[in-house]
Amino acid sequence: MKVGVIAFQGAVSEHMHIIDSILGEGSSVAVRSEKELEKVSAVIIPGGESTTIGKLMRNSGVFRKLKQLGESDFPIWGTCAGMIMLAKEGDEQVERTGELLGLMDMRVKRNAFGRQRESFEEELNIAGIGRYHCIFIRAPAVEKVYGKCRALAKFGKWIVAAEQGNLLATAFHPELSGNFKFHEYFISKVK
Ligand code: GLN
Repeated sequence: MKVGVIAFQGAVSEHMHIIDSILGEGSSVAVRSEKELEKVSAVIIPGGESTTIGKLMRNSGVFRKLKQLGESDFPIWGTCAGMIMLAKEGDEQVERTGELLGLMDMRVKRNAFGRQRESFEEELNIAGIGRYHCIFIRAPAVEKVYGKCRALAKFGKWIVAAEQGNLLATAFHPELSGNFKFHEYFISKVK
């Protein structure tokens, strides 16, 4: 099984390294084109800068294809900026991201924790995973979920992990925690 990581910008190699550690060397694929997308059974959209990632995904055709795949049963996991890309709607800052994939029934707020708490770490309880060390970096948060989307973890008033069938979103960076449980959970979604 091969797992793609959208590789235009951001925390790409960290995700690829963990996928290779779990599934074996060569199991992760850097995806920058529609052709590369055809080789994989699931995709991670990493953290980084959502405006940049969004623009490069749209220009390459990856956006259109990934949207189609996400609407079928194909597993996609967005972390941080990737989570913004998966959302159906967002705040006025999200509008600057440009068109979103719009796959998950949730509203996100970009840079939700502001300048005071730009980057921080918290132990949180994640449904289906348990206690998990969560690293937030200029993180977005989910303001609300509706429809088929459900919250997996909360931090104060914010939802910071959510799931909708084949789709998974985390506001924090599981690729930086040294704990592979989140990646294992995502891989378990691939049939
Ligand atoms: N603040 C970034 C954005 O809005 C996301 C940060 C991250 O992915 N670590 O695009």
